[in-house]
Amino acid sequence: MIKQIYKALKDKKLKIRFSWIEDKKSYVYGECFGDEIVINPYDAVVATLIHEMIHWKHPEINERSTVRLEENIHAQLTMRQKKHLINLLLKKVGENGGKK
Ligand SMILES: [Zn+2]
Repeated sequence: MIKQIYKALKDKKLKIRFSWIEDKKSYVYGECFGDEIVINPYDAVVATLIHEMIHWKHPEINERSTVRLEENIHAQLTMRQKKHLINLLLKKVGENGGKK
């Protein structure tokens, strides 16, 4: 199955994009509509990015304060800002040229 998935990911007719999917009852991770897959980037990714960026910019701030700052910043973000952060993150990750 996993090899079929690798192969299918190279299929030109498949489109994948990131978008937030609103559902009041439960957290929706993604959806498939015909040839399009929409993936809901986890809030955890955004929160983790903020957390680690605080460590990088401010190594003097301890873990407890970093968590508090991260939670405050994350709680105030709009959907648009989260999307922007995800896009910046993807661009940054892409600069590694597929290497780790
Ligand atoms: Zn930490």
